[in-house]
Amino acid sequence: MNIIIFGPPLAGKGTQSKKIIKDFGLTHLSTGDALRSEKAQNSDLGIEAAEYSSKGLLVPDELVAKVVEKFYHNHKEEKGILFDGYPRNIDQAQHLLDLFEADNTPLSQIIFLKVPREELLKRAKKRAEEQNRKDDRDPKIVLTRIDEFERLTIPAVQHIKATGVKTTEIDGNQSIESIYIKIQEVLG
Ligand code: AMP
Repeated sequence: MNIIIFGPPLAGKGTQSKKIIKDFGLTHLSTGDALRSEKAQNSDLGIEAAEYSSKGLLVPDELVAKVVEKFYHNHKEEKGILFDGYPRNIDQAQHLLDLFEADNTPLSQIIFLKVPREELLKRAKKRAEEQNRKDDRDPKIVLTRIDEFERLTIPAVQHIKATGVKTTEIDGNQSIESIYIKIQEVLG
């Protein structure tokens, strides 16, 4: 069971992902977490990626693809992977479809959390205080991240959906528990 969870920044993908992997036995790939961990280790990849992330921009595809391919090949024999934050544009979407096709592995589902802009900005303020994430602190950077999502990531969702993968939109502007109940219904 391979699943992608999509949603704008601060939609709650990370929070829901933690619940899903626990209950469904999946392995979690958050490319954002992976890139932050590279940065914390001061790797060349992490330092280069942070130049983009600190401005709210997407990191170049070839850098993220390295992280994804390594993770995919290390975990593909397990029950399934939950992709959180990948893909984020059409080229990345095609890259992921190609990885699955090369292994003859199905992509089971797309979950898409929808949250209005004003709510995302409110959440950014709160998370900046709680988690000390630099890219949440400046509202201009948060808006850039939301714009990048709308401009680049929504077409990636459509690209994958067009291949026939089951796609479910969920209102992400509800309590964590209510969202998760919907997700459980979808994943069965
Ligand atoms: P996230 O934690 O998913 O919000 O990601 C934080 C930041 O990491 C993003 O704003 C991007 O700069 C970078 N990032 C994460 N995933 C990707 C990706 N698939 N492609 C490009 N950049 C990414």
